[in-house]
Amino acid sequence: MAEDQGTPGAPSTGQPTGRPWRRVVVKLSGEALMGERSHGLDAETLDRLAQDLVETVALGVEMAVVVGGGNFFRGIEGAEKGIERARADSIGMLATVMNALALEYAIEKRGQAARVLSAVHMPSLCEAYSRQAALHHLGKQRIAILAGGTGNPFFTTDTGAALRAAELSCDVIMKATQVDGVYSADPKRDPAATRYAQLTHDEAISKNLAVMDTAAFALARENRIPIIVFSIKGQGAIRAALEGRGLATLVSP
Ligand code: UDP
Repeated sequence: MAEDQGTPGAPSTGQPTGRPWRRVVVKLSGEALMGERSHGLDAETLDRLAQDLVETVALGVEMAVVVGGGNFFRGIEGAEKGIERARADSIGMLATVMNALALEYAIEKRGQAARVLSAVHMPSLCEAYSRQAALHHLGKQRIAILAGGTGNPFFTTDTGAALRAAELSCDVIMKATQVDGVYSADPKRDPAATRYAQLTHDEAISKNLAVMDTAAFALARENRIPIIVFSIKGQGAIRAALEGRGLATLVSP
């Protein structure tokens, strides 16, 4: 497919297949929640993202948000420091619950209903994830915040996002990143890197482009779920990406 010529990353309708995005999964990494800080949560950033999510759901979409935990803890880093990997991943999954609870509060204080559903069961803090519970909340226009990733060690929340998108029959995965799409090389290191406006899943694989981690990408590809890769940095970035405004890369079958 053609590389970016300065055109918006997705068609202006945000509906390249001619059908609207009715149910979406937004993947927010822990990094997206920490703003300019080196770790943890940044209150201003959290508020901006909550506002963006509330405005996006007001368009009438059903929205699940899968949150990462890398702003607090990543299993692989714990393992490098000598913690058994499965245990380190358990700590990482707990980190995602912290982010989810913070995001739930930031959304609800804006008058929009949200529910944290965790794959790691913590009944005194939030509901347990089940497909039925998630669909129930989505049907009531509540934002379903999905914590705990897949609930299993050795996975990432990117894979959690792809898995939930598949099992909840979502139309698209909105993968928020620090850059405005998928590039031919790392734009931070290679000034000649160009951004793709659109790609197929197969092209992303053959060109070796790291859109999401391999397990996540394989799930999305197998289930023919499009992925919008966009930058989370600007005000209203999620809504803009959903509406097909601004720069992004659309990966579709
Ligand atoms: N994690 C896990 N299983 C999952 C999802 C996450 O064990 O299904 C752990 C893993 O240790 C990971 C951490 O939770 O490093 C935080 O998730 P992730 O790295 O995906 O967060 P992000 O990079 O998106 O902030």
